[in-house]
Amino acid sequence: MPKATAPPPTRTSVSAFESQPAGPPQWLRNATKAMQEKWRHDKFTVIQRRKVSPASTQEWRLKCLDCPGKLYTPGPGETLANYEIHLRNRLHRRRVNERVRREPVRSKL
Ligand SMILES: [Zn+2]
Repeated sequence: MPKATAPPPTRTSVSAFESQPAGPPQWLRNATKAMQEKWRHDKFTVIQRRKVSPASTQEWRLKCLDCPGKLYTPGPGETLANYEIHLRNRLHRRRVNERVRREPVRSKL
């Protein structure tokens, strides 16, 4: 067996359970990261939807930073397939392309 040194868990605080709202679930973070790697020019973020009642479960939405005012529901299941449909949308691609064209070319470090 290879002797692999596992990186230490990047857990900041364990006691922030009751007052602090938990971040997005792990699958959503993973899926967002994978999506970001796949669609490098696209900008989106995960936002927490305001709870309707304290008893209701937390809901998450994807926000496209190129198409303000629109929120997308993750899914189906533990995927972002719903949102990926938007990423393929012609209007969305045009906005991304226009933004990329406006942005200065990133200089190599
Ligand atoms: Zn968009």
